[in-house]
Amino acid sequence: MEAFDFSHERDIGLGDLVSRVKAYYPEADFEMLEKAFHYATKWHSGQKRSSGEDYIIHPINVSATLIKLRLDMDSIVAGLLHDVVEDCGVTPEEIEKEFSTDVAQIVVGLTKISKIKFKTKEESQAENFRKMVVAMAKDLRVIIVKLADRMHNMRTLQYVSDEKQKKVAQETLDIYVPLASRLGINSVKSELEDLCLRFLKPDIYYRLAEKIAMKKSEREVYIRETVDTIREKLLEYSLQAEVKGRSKHFFSIYKKMIARGVGFEQIQDILAFRVMVGNITECYKALGIIHSSFTPIPGRFKDYIAIPKVNNYQSLHTTVIGPRAERIEIQIRTYEMDEVAETGVAAHWKYKEGIKSGKKKLDWVEELLEFNQNVENSHEFLSVVKNDLDVGGVFVFTPKGDVRELRYGATPLDFAYAIHTDVGNHCVGAKVNGKMVPLRHVLKSGDTVEVMTSKNQTPSKDWLNIVKSSRAKTKIKQWLLKVERDHNKELGTEVLEKTLKSFGSSIKALKKHGDIEPLYKAASCSNFEELLINIGSGKTASRELISHIPSLRDKAVEISEVQLKELDSYSKKLSKNVKKRANKDNAVIVDGESDVMVRLARCCNPIPGDPIMGYITRGRGITIHHANCERVDADSLTRSVSVEWNSEFRFKHPVTIRVVTYDKPGILSTISKVITAINVNIRSAIAKSLPDRKGSFIFEIEVQDYSELLKTISTIESIEEVISVNRV
Ligand code: MN
Repeated sequence: MEAFDFSHERDIGLGDLVSRVKAYYPEADFEMLEKAFHYATKWHSGQKRSSGEDYIIHPINVSATLIKLRLDMDSIVAGLLHDVVEDCGVTPEEIEKEFSTDVAQIVVGLTKISKIKFKTKEESQAENFRKMVVAMAKDLRVIIVKLADRMHNMRTLQYVSDEKQKKVAQETLDIYVPLASRLGINSVKSELEDLCLRFLKPDIYYRLAEKIAMKKSEREVYIRETVDTIREKLLEYSLQAEVKGRSKHFFSIYKKMIARGVGFEQIQDILAFRVMVGNITECYKALGIIHSSFTPIPGRFKDYIAIPKVNNYQSLHTTVIGPRAERIEIQIRTYEMDEVAETGVAAHWKYKEGIKSGKKKLDWVEELLEFNQNVENSHEFLSVVKNDLDVGGVFVFTPKGDVRELRYGATPLDFAYAIHTDVGNHCVGAKVNGKMVPLRHVLKSGDTVEVMTSKNQTPSKDWLNIVKSSRAKTKIKQWLLKVERDHNKELGTEVLEKTLKSFGSSIKALKKHGDIEPLYKAASCSNFEELLINIGSGKTASRELISHIPSLRDKAVEISEVQLKELDSYSKKLSKNVKKRANKDNAVIVDGESDVMVRLARCCNPIPGDPIMGYITRGRGITIHHANCERVDADSLTRSVSVEWNSEFRFKHPVTIRVVTYDKPGILSTISKVITAINVNIRSAIAKSLPDRKGSFIFEIEVQDYSELLKTISTIESIEEVISVNRV
């Protein structure tokens, strides 16, 4: 496969397009291609480009680029028609009628993108990205055609004003280059980069061009010799390979100059060679032969075959000392990998597979979209997009050896959600490389992750702070929301039933009388379920609904005092339950206040099960003390509020205990072992020698509640050498 040449082609007609498509896709719909060609020519007739050429030369070049990338016919036709809606007033409906729904959709997507107003400010750039991602999500081909459009505009940018050159080039570098890179279309990416350099830093570009043009014939001889040498070395081991050599792209040389802080003269390795072979085994074989024939530079070998880049790029990279003692970079890959490297995601629409099997969307695009709905400001979105466009991430293995791609900073919980929503929802922990880790553990590339689940486990709010991927965040939120709705519906049903019972009725009776609809309408709900949820969450008082039930309207006055009281106490109990659930993340429920800041006092460090009292501290919310705490005086008692432990709260509480033992070697490890054996975590341990050959140990442990603490203490007490165990 030859390198792509995206140069502007002046004399190119329908015949060229047809024969080029035929070369890879003989059974394509050439009738549609021909029709589109004439259609575009007709609508653009009379229009001119800045270069003075007929306008039609632009859409033709765009579709020629798409043909080079071997896209499907819908994309090629959309390339020809991409400007007729915007510039000629043709309607999308007409395109759909004349060509196809897909073509019309791609053209509409392109028209939308062209209307995005680009500004240099970061905030608005985020907005641009957001819109681009939305456009991509409908059909990725929109972006590929857009890239081809941009390629031709960049190719002919010298004909527009200096000011416009800079603006368009900067926009290309900021938005289209990262997109091409993320989509893995490297041929387009490096071409666009070089063009950006040409218009943004012309001095550097032309000096580089000059340097490379200098000694051009000498370099060509050198390239040819090196290519031959490599090929011969491989043949010695009967390895058939295609070897190519070229000067590196200007932009990559420029990046190297910046990164190393060096000038043109110091830049040595400007040549790159590529070895292409039939299969993966041959790739490694070729690498071995090259490393034994030329001296490899240590630390420059990269294996993107074993661990591909996020955009699916695969290749072996190495740098060696070439035949003339010059550093040369060599890439080794299969022919298939080469095609993926050059055309990236475009390979999905290759003629063979066709659009039907091609994946229209990519996971990361969908993830960005989900995220798009959950973020408030564009700035946050931009940082995520940038993060996502940054090629690279964390690659971890499943126990079976499959590779999963995760974001930087991903935790075992992200991994669990990446496998399946159910696995995520029931994840209790994970083993990384065989060792237990907490859910917050940050994964590194190469880790093997094994998720542990329990059917009793369910997501909690604090998980939202643990996960990095927007997919996992969305799934957790969905679960939390559903649980709350289900629970409220259940409670609401119970309360309504109870209320109705005291009026001698029931939900069943209401249904029989046709009273359900008037009832939820009276409460301005759109259906019965919504009403039940509102009752359950305490938004609607069930007793007030009675007067809206036609069959009960008269009975409403007959309710007795006792019944009223009973109902009231019932709804109080209910609202308390609701409060408990709303405060799932708080260890303590404060009566009468739903959202108060609660602090556990350090002096007495109460844990669930301890008798507690709370009092209001100025500016600090409410402090919870052990009921017997000495710090609590008469003054604070006047500010006390009623508090109770929240049974829904599942976090571990730190407690400090002192263990006094007879001094004996290994006693610390004995105690530690019995503590961990009952699944209690030790946060820290301090050992101290006492007189009389005794030892004192201060442990900070984490327990669920008081009963777990008691269990821990009695377990430690059972050790023979232990004299006493006390909570401090
Ligand atoms: Mn265009």
